Amino acid sequence: MTIHGLDHLRPITASDAEIEAALEDAHIPALMCALVHITGDANVVRGPIKPVINFFGDEQGNISPEDQATVRARAREALCALRDGARLPAPPSQALVNEMVDFIVDRALTPEYGEFLHAELMLSGEDPYAPVGLDELPAAARAGFKVAIIGAGMSGILAGIRLQAAGIPFEIIERHEDVGGTWYQNTYPGCRVDSPNHIYSYSFRPADWPQYYSPQPVLRDYFDATARDYGLKAHTRFGTEVKEARFDERGGRWRLTLERRDGTREELETNAVISAVGQLNRPKWPDVPGRERFEGISFHSTEWQHEHDLTGKRILVIGTGASAFQFAPEIAKVAGDVTIFQRTPPWMAPVPTYHDNVPAGKHWLLNHVPYYAKWYRFSMFWNAAEGLLHAVRKDPAWNGQNHSISAANDEVRQMFTDWIAELCEGDTELFRKVVPKYPVGAKRILLDNGNWMRALRRDNVHLVDEPVREITTTGVVTESGIAYDADVIIYGTGFEASRFLWPMRVYGRSGKELQAHWNGDPRAYLGITIPGFPNLFCCYGPNTNIVANGSIIFFSECEVRYILGCIGLLLRGGHAALDCRRDVHDAYNQAIDAENLEMAWGAANVPTWYKNTKGRVTQNWPYPLVEFWHRTRRPNPTDYQFLDAGAA
Ligand code: NAP
Repeated sequence: MTIHGLDHLRPITASDAEIEAALEDAHIPALMCALVHITGDANVVRGPIKPVINFFGDEQGNISPEDQATVRARAREALCALRDGARLPAPPSQALVNEMVDFIVDRALTPEYGEFLHAELMLSGEDPYAPVGLDELPAAARAGFKVAIIGAGMSGILAGIRLQAAGIPFEIIERHEDVGGTWYQNTYPGCRVDSPNHIYSYSFRPADWPQYYSPQPVLRDYFDATARDYGLKAHTRFGTEVKEARFDERGGRWRLTLERRDGTREELETNAVISAVGQLNRPKWPDVPGRERFEGISFHSTEWQHEHDLTGKRILVIGTGASAFQFAPEIAKVAGDVTIFQRTPPWMAPVPTYHDNVPAGKHWLLNHVPYYAKWYRFSMFWNAAEGLLHAVRKDPAWNGQNHSISAANDEVRQMFTDWIAELCEGDTELFRKVVPKYPVGAKRILLDNGNWMRALRRDNVHLVDEPVREITTTGVVTESGIAYDADVIIYGTGFEASRFLWPMRVYGRSGKELQAHWNGDPRAYLGITIPGFPNLFCCYGPNTNIVANGSIIFFSECEVRYILGCIGLLLRGGHAALDCRRDVHDAYNQAIDAENLEMAWGAANVPTWYKNTKGRVTQNWPYPLVEFWHRTRRPNPTDYQFLDAGAA
């Protein structure tokens, strides 16, 4: 797999006028960084034209229309010259990349970011997520090692691509009938990605996303096409579930028990197992009695029953998380009546482009201008995730009375509250119900262009903020005894997120079973390896989730690079297996726990799927994303105990 930073680019054949028109849609800060690459002139980012970043503010970094015109004129000249045969100058130095990083984020960052960006731009010609040193090992050694990947979603596909490139045999086991994971499973109306699509894509496969946040069918097609193009479907057993995985200490191998849809079983033996099962796919049902009594239609958002026509129906929706937030406004358009039961309102961030198409000019720039897509992606990485981290970190000196945890957090709270007030248009009762009473960042922040609030203000939509007491044969009864009858109940009540790898039975050394070992409190080292479970590697494992809307694909790319690095260690040393050292794992988890308590999602006292039943944050990575990138670049052999076959 040879990839380069500019592989996705198409040659420029556009006329001067077409280039000029496309530039009207340019993201100016990204264009300025691209201009440094194209012209070799560092002064583009050293002059008076600079972005000033306000989160959830102006995409152009408040660069004035006159200054934007100046940049566009310069870009027009440079792109026409490129079309007419000009060559790209030598790539910028690491020091200049650091400067460009500081320019686009409007602050001085640590050199780790420059190093990350230098790699992402592939200026040294290296794929930043390729495992280090695997291709130096004899092909026979690589071919003699076999891996089982559980799940053919985003992470499983990625693991397959990387193993294939490394010449390591693998099989993917997928319980569904096709690839795509969450994007295959979730088909509810209105489903779309809620991280910016230009970061929610593999680093090696930029896509021409039709929207800034594309709908589910587009995402499903992206993963389907990726799996097809890399020939992964031929490596996948569909309609097959891993029921059990057992580590054989003598042979240093894993034995998997697979079950097909028809109930037949078979065994699979491999050297390693990569769990790519995701966190959000096993439905969670509300903890109220009576669900089985309801005599109408009912289903969970992730198991949408499309055979039912909802036109004119009386529908009850339980939950106001990310899923309900997307499907409730859609069903309200056809339903007779929709009553939504809200336990905790979500914070909403104003994102006017949430449903917008990417304009033609921006498509052209992303596809034709060298390094523009990379800097645009980095700008999303910063503005939608990394840059927000400071605003969700606790200031011990701040007294926000459980409404905010720092001055910066309070500022965001005020901005979001103003946005909600604007959308309520004077409806004080609605405003009272929908403004959260907990700090921003304690639960997932939902992106909004006003769609949710417009739905809540429809005549046929009612928001109930009283707890649900029980479900009856005809509907829902709330705590004060009010009964709501309905034809349909839709559960938007989320997933069994903190039951990692459940319901598989996984047995490690000495026959220890994973769920029993975790005892409801899953932990792993870097979210990837677990002491006592050699050669079991997790993607999207414990503490690898994010609250501010970064991209889980970023995490998976780091994890898969690390996992292949671990396999490299085994092959290089001629070992059968590696087992994470308990002291390393424990020290890491202590630090993670302490840091999570400093963050909004750990500090606040509010129900969230980021915490397990014991109140520990099992889901989230509390540090900057770039830290995960650096920590997982290559495994440190001293973190592991190596086991040899026969002596394991
Ligand atoms: P969720 O965020 O866990 O939301 C579940 C909702 O059900 C919450 O509002 C919860 O209230 C409510 N609930 C649970 N039990 C209840 C009860 N007994 N009575 C009343 N309400 C009850 O689940 P989700 O919306 O499916 O989203 C899960 C995660 O999936 C998201 O956070 C996100 O990471 C991901 N997701 C992503 C996308 C996307 O990218 N497009 C879309 C959907 C989901 P409380 O808040 O009080 O617990």
